Order: sequence, then C-alpha cells, then structure tokens
Amino acid sequence: MVRITHYRYKCIGCAYCVEVAPDFWEMNEQDGKSDLISANTKNQIQVLLTDDLAWEQNRQAADVCPVSCIKVEKY
Ligand code: SF4
Repeated sequence: MVRITHYRYKCIGCAYCVEVAPDFWEMNEQDGKSDLISANTKNQIQVLLTDDLAWEQNRQAADVCPVSCIKVEKY
C-alpha cells in the first residue's frame, strides 16, 4: 500500500504533478493549487491511501515538485 501526502499549503500551482501523474492530480480552478484526487483533506493537508500501482507516477510527482510538498511512502 502507498500513502501519498500533499502539503497543499506549500503548493505554488506549477502543475508539474498533473503533467507526470494525471490519474492522481488535478488543478483546482478556484485557488490555482493542485489537488490530490479522492484524498481526505484536513488543514490544507491531503492524504490518499492507495495501492502499489500508484507508486511510480507519484514518485515522479514528488521528484518534480519544486517545493517538495508531495510525500510518497510505502506502508
Ligand atoms: S508539483 Fe508541487 S508545487 Fe507544483 S502543483 Fe504539484 S504539488 Fe503544487
């Protein structure tokens, strides 16, 4: 299983995560930041628990994020 965490309050809206992992990320038209699709959101932190198939795309998203606000862990 994979846990993806988005520290959304740090997001600068560059959309790189959407480019490399469009199955998991989308841009929010209201505030211009990205959203982790289907995540639980609390205090501008989004968490998604999902299966191992999410690992590769989201590792890439974490790597390209210029402000390091995406964390991907196996658990
Ligand atoms: S790559 Fe990082 S800063 Fe850019 S939109 Fe995605 S989460 Fe936000």
